[in-house]
Amino acid sequence: MTARVLVVDDILANIKLLQARLEAEYFEVLTASNGMAALEICQRERVDVVLLDVMMPGIDGFEVCRRLKASAQTLHIPVVMVTALDQVSDKIQGLDCGADDFLTKPVDDIALVTRVKSLARLKMLNDEMLMRVTTSRQMGLADEDSLARILADRPGRVLVVDDHPRSSSRVMSALMKEHEAYIESDPQLALQHLAAQPFDLVVVALNLQHSDGLRLCSQVRSLDRSRHIPILIMVDPGDEARLLRGLDMGVNDYLMRPVDRHELLARVKTQIKRKRFSDYLRNQIRESVEMSITDPLTGLHNRRYMERHLKTLIADALRSGRSLSVLIADIDHFKLVNDTYGHDAGDLVLKEFSDRFRRYTRGVDLACRLGGEEFLIIMPDTDKPLARQVGERVRECVASQPFKIASDKEIWVTASVGLATWEGEGDTSEALFKRADNALYAAKRQGRNQVVADAA
Ligand code: GH3
Ligand code: MG
Ligand code: MG
Repeated sequence: MTARVLVVDDILANIKLLQARLEAEYFEVLTASNGMAALEICQRERVDVVLLDVMMPGIDGFEVCRRLKASAQTLHIPVVMVTALDQVSDKIQGLDCGADDFLTKPVDDIALVTRVKSLARLKMLNDEMLMRVTTSRQMGLADEDSLARILADRPGRVLVVDDHPRSSSRVMSALMKEHEAYIESDPQLALQHLAAQPFDLVVVALNLQHSDGLRLCSQVRSLDRSRHIPILIMVDPGDEARLLRGLDMGVNDYLMRPVDRHELLARVKTQIKRKRFSDYLRNQIRESVEMSITDPLTGLHNRRYMERHLKTLIADALRSGRSLSVLIADIDHFKLVNDTYGHDAGDLVLKEFSDRFRRYTRGVDLACRLGGEEFLIIMPDTDKPLARQVGERVRECVASQPFKIASDKEIWVTASVGLATWEGEGDTSEALFKRADNALYAAKRQGRNQVVADAA
């Protein structure tokens, strides 16, 4: 999806200039020549970023920004103030109005594209978040506390990598006002900190005196543990070539030296927010994947996952030449438990049963619930004699202790176990599974509460 950028300026030539540059980068551009028109467009249409001229007749840019940030409908649209002069007072006033970033006229090409891209990405993550929040609320699943934490502007943990004593102390003193900030002059140690502790952002001086800032950026991006951490670089004027390489490499944003503290804080805030949104979304995806492979009652893997995994393990056994066994356990006369004590008591037995199952199997064994009161364990590197021992242990752990179904009520339960061992090349997961099932059936027929192995 391309981002939609609204360009607001009272001078047509300025609009045309920005429009041409943005369209060259495949942004979709909307335009407005005064503040009221801009507000109306933001209310009516999807806008991902607003580029807002400060000086306009009628309501000026500051007022437009204030009104956008005051309305729940437009609050989340990032606003970039475009100021004619590099005036600190303009920046302070802009921040007070809720602006997300600044550009100074004449607008530099790299700055324009970087800022708009960075904020458009943030906006899209934000939209996605809000959609998920709505769905979660509808499903009654929203964890309101963690959502509020993500959406709020909380201090972040920032690592600054800089070996210029003077500039780094200025950056640090600005950051410390709002965040938990740490300084490191050695890039290798910085990498170690990033891998060892949770950080929301790393700020890197591109021109380190004793090493290469770009190299550090590429390492941060390529290491598993730091690859999701946003990078903000500090660049010296005249170093545009390296700046562009950094941006290509995945650096998220930059600051020109001498670093303006207002810009620093605004950009740090944007990056930290983005990091929090994307962390949240990644976790959600992980959780929903887990949900689709686990059984909600017992937390064990479900049948679908088991079937997929058994095939993988057979291929693995074929390669390694190691053995593999499966075990199916089925609770005896479970229908009677439900009929006598109720379905809820039955559920409690199932939960306790799977807890014991987990406790009495090894970490490499994969336990899953096939459905109903039938469970399966896949045991890699396990031959028939060892599988029999595990089977006996499982039978024993059910039969030897009663199951609690109420604070004052315990019942005795037994389970039957069928085993099968993989016979090598040509033996399929379906055939293996079928033999375990037949063995289970034999155990039931022979009187229950016992372990039977397949004939092979
Ligand atoms: P057998 O010894 O031959 O295995 O007899 P059984 O009663 O255990 O077997 P049957 O297959 O006749 O009955 C299984 C029962 O398990 C029937 C069903 O109501 C119950 N059941 C299946 N899933 C659940 C569940 O999630 N919770 C509860 N409480 N009961 C379940
Ligand atoms: Mg103007
Ligand atoms: Mg049963």
